[in-house]
Amino acid sequence: MKPSILNYTLEELETLVSPKFRAKQIYNWIYNKRVDSFHEMQNIPKNLREELDAKYVIYNSTIVNKQISSDGSIKYLFKLHDGHTVETVLLLMRDTQYNEDGSIKHLPKYTVCVSSQVGCKVGCAFCLTAKGGFIRDLEASEIVEQILQVYNDNDIDSNRRVNIVYMGMGEPLDNLQNLAQAIKVFKDPNGLSISPHRQTVSTSGLSSKIDKLAKMDLGINLAISLHAVDDELRQQLMPINKAYNIASIMEAVRRFPVNLRKKVMFEYLIIKDVNDDIASAKKLVKLLNGIQSKVNLIYFNPYPGSPFCRPDTESVKKFQEYLLSKGVLCTIRESKGLDISAACGQLREQKLSGEVQ
Ligand code: SAH
Ligand code: SF4
Repeated sequence: MKPSILNYTLEELETLVSPKFRAKQIYNWIYNKRVDSFHEMQNIPKNLREELDAKYVIYNSTIVNKQISSDGSIKYLFKLHDGHTVETVLLLMRDTQYNEDGSIKHLPKYTVCVSSQVGCKVGCAFCLTAKGGFIRDLEASEIVEQILQVYNDNDIDSNRRVNIVYMGMGEPLDNLQNLAQAIKVFKDPNGLSISPHRQTVSTSGLSSKIDKLAKMDLGINLAISLHAVDDELRQQLMPINKAYNIASIMEAVRRFPVNLRKKVMFEYLIIKDVNDDIASAKKLVKLLNGIQSKVNLIYFNPYPGSPFCRPDTESVKKFQEYLLSKGVLCTIRESKGLDISAACGQLREQKLSGEVQ
């Protein structure tokens, strides 16, 4: 099988094509003009186009299902070259732009949630992706392609500001090399130019990999899926906690280089009668002491056969109010795309069980 050219940073492509200056033109065709074949690259000589076509492909995945939520979010199911499927979600939020002439413009603000693996090894008890086990890592190009295809499908201009969150299927730090490569491809000013400050890696807390990521000095934002404040409960929800307990995660976070104007995000999935009590909120405040942090509360999103229940709005609000009263920044994640089953892994599961075509 031919590799995808989306695997390479511009610097790498410069070593692969001759003369070197052609690499920038090719990058421009792919990431700005967004052609889907080498033959369309008009200012590239025919022999080089043929050589590229013989060695590489551009796109390797196809959109096999698409669901649009009432709030405008779109959930995609991609079929990879080997037939496996992964999900990508385009989240739409409203961005208000105040112009110098006093006019106000409402623009959609795009955030794309991408997958990093087919399945996941971590095995969290509340997560549908975990149920199917782990199949394989995504290649860097397969991560890059999710974004490009979402841009293409929505006619998003390459210079629009887009945020990326690595919160789709899989554990991104378990596929660190390919993740880092994709982050580098996204940030290239000749390509999509998505600054690492607008990219957030979410992890279940592989402390040693958090340190490795820190050493790579990519400038990305970090999000920790904490979900519980004592080891016993966290171990039940997230078996990975046996290998990397809460204390080890907090130490790794304290070592992580955080941009002065940024914060580490702590995700806390609220499950009814499991971790929605104020005693947990109190412990959370203590844990975060001295860390530049913000908390994102997430409603547990039930799926058929899930062992847990969605929490009451009341208890989530109380949890938030407690954190805010102690000076901890805290937002509640809107249930974007609830009606399109936006919790991680749900569209893929429906596809596998034949509920969607
Ligand atoms: N593996 C990484 C990133 C992907 S999971 C991680 O765990 O951080 C992205 C987020 O989806 C995590 O915070 C996870 O806890 C959340 N999630 C998983 N199952 C969910 C469910 N049923 N309802 C709501 N959020 C869920
Ligand atoms: Fe993997 Fe994240 Fe799901 Fe846990 S929540 S099983 S780490 S994808």
